[in-house]
Amino acid sequence: MKQFRSTVIRAGLGALYFSGAHHLLRPIFSGVGAIFTLHHVRPPRDGVFQPNRHLEVTPEFLRAMLAHLHAHGIDVVTLDEVHQRLVERNFSRRFACFTFDDGYRDNREFALPVMREFDAPLTLFVASDFAQGSGRLWWIALEMAIAKAERIEVTIDGVACRFDTVTASAKQAVFDRLHDWLRNLSEHDLQHEVGALCVHHGVDQTAICRELCMSWDELRSFADNPLVTIGAHSITHCNLAQQSEAVAKGELAIGRARIEAALHRPVVHLAYPYGDRNAAGAREFALAAACGYKTAVTTRPGMVFPESAAHLTALPRVSLNGNYQDARILPVLTSGAATAMWNGFRRVDAA
Ligand SMILES: [Zn+2]
Repeated sequence: MKQFRSTVIRAGLGALYFSGAHHLLRPIFSGVGAIFTLHHVRPPRDGVFQPNRHLEVTPEFLRAMLAHLHAHGIDVVTLDEVHQRLVERNFSRRFACFTFDDGYRDNREFALPVMREFDAPLTLFVASDFAQGSGRLWWIALEMAIAKAERIEVTIDGVACRFDTVTASAKQAVFDRLHDWLRNLSEHDLQHEVGALCVHHGVDQTAICRELCMSWDELRSFADNPLVTIGAHSITHCNLAQQSEAVAKGELAIGRARIEAALHRPVVHLAYPYGDRNAAGAREFALAAACGYKTAVTTRPGMVFPESAAHLTALPRVSLNGNYQDARILPVLTSGAATAMWNGFRRVDAA
């Protein structure tokens, strides 16, 4: 299913590009700006089995996007500026805003130098447990367990399942199957199942966290760069919509307080973990506003429109997806045509 959707999206982006339809759609769907979602930025890696590859782009692709925006006179702005332009209804110039989720060290190594070339600001959304070194990046742990294993055994809905994971294509299929299964479990069950796989296949989740994520010390010097804004991304990176209201509120308020205490600066922007409609809905949008966040971003695909000013804690973003790193799609992404297609041509999706 994922592969199918992926193929359709790629065909759709290609079709939009070659038909030139994105030029026709631009006046209606380009909105006033876009907030881009990125995760890892690093050089491409060898190896066929890279199931999380959609979460990384190369420094060259990031540079191509920034050059494209620069060539088209689009301002690259901070989230504070996005907030201000929306509230003041200042839409004389189009904007783009770059946000990086989770707090990966490669953002410092590879993204910041490219952003600097363009004097372009960025926001880094930090999950406090990740900075603490105790976070659970279960999607990476799952990848590593399957990469090592020749066979995976799990019990799904009471049925003992045994999957062959010898070839790269078998590994990919099992990753997709298990990822979909895990995403629908409670946070407790998800961590329990991934924890068991890690023990069985010798994967150390704490080591993954420490290898990939910046520590508080590293974040302190990263945050001192004037181009950098630090935002919050919860404590544990759980699916907030699955939590009780008290727990969800704690994730939003305590996560933020920990970042503020560790980095000695106010934190006023939030990215919901996962951020899709299964992980962030009306209750979370209200909680974020009640916690005092100026803006909160989802991963619901969309451009920013003037109407978004009424939904500052439910802002859509455009993902820079590692599976589509082709310079030809840059004008499609910035035209809004791709996200408009995805949304059935609705402009605002904040319910
Ligand atoms: Zn995240």
